Amino acid sequence: KFITFEGIDGAGKSTHLAWLTKFLQNRGLTVVVTREPGGTVLGERLRELLLDQRQTMHAETETLLMFAARREHLDKVILPALARGDWVVSDRYMDASFAYQGAGRGVPLRKLALLEEWVQGIFSPDLTLYFDLPAEIGKARVQSIKTADRFEVESDQFFEHVRRGYLQRAQQFQQRISVIDASLPIEQVKQNLMELIEAFYRQ
Ligand code: C5P
Repeated sequence: KFITFEGIDGAGKSTHLAWLTKFLQNRGLTVVVTREPGGTVLGERLRELLLDQRQTMHAETETLLMFAARREHLDKVILPALARGDWVVSDRYMDASFAYQGAGRGVPLRKLALLEEWVQGIFSPDLTLYFDLPAEIGKARVQSIKTADRFEVESDQFFEHVRRGYLQRAQQFQQRISVIDASLPIEQVKQNLMELIEAFYRQ
């Protein structure tokens, strides 16, 4: 199975991803943990460039690099792991492009849809966990834990757009995307996540 984690910066994805990985490993499953942008040698190099150059990079250049990294990620990591019967858990995937490059940076949805079709065809995650959070809470959380993030270069408004982009995707793909309220206390978020995962696991 292929599970992806999504949310604005500061939504707590990484913490919950580590927890989910443990949950699956405890059930004897082999789990491949990966991330976007990144996940392959080329992808990690592109990640550095993307994070480093994003203040000056054209929104469509950023988009094309994200999708190039994703094509490689699918070919080298995701599809081989699924073919072996492993589970794959990715910190961000396709929905991030619709939220960040689309809703955030204004790349037209039809262009993203074309790239989506090109890069993944009809393949898609089995489950996407979207951690929903108002931008101001995300910002406050990020500032207390790390420095290299997108809040440094973008406005709060940018993140509200990104959030709206995610919510729109969640609306469009209700079967695949579960929205988790990430503004709740962490123990409550974990509890909600656990219920979702147990239901998914039993299917
Ligand atoms: O999730 P993570 O913190 O690893 O993402 C690294 C950075 O890349 C974040 O600041 C995130 O906002 C940004 N990003 C992006 N577009 C994507 C995926 C991530 O701008 N499609």
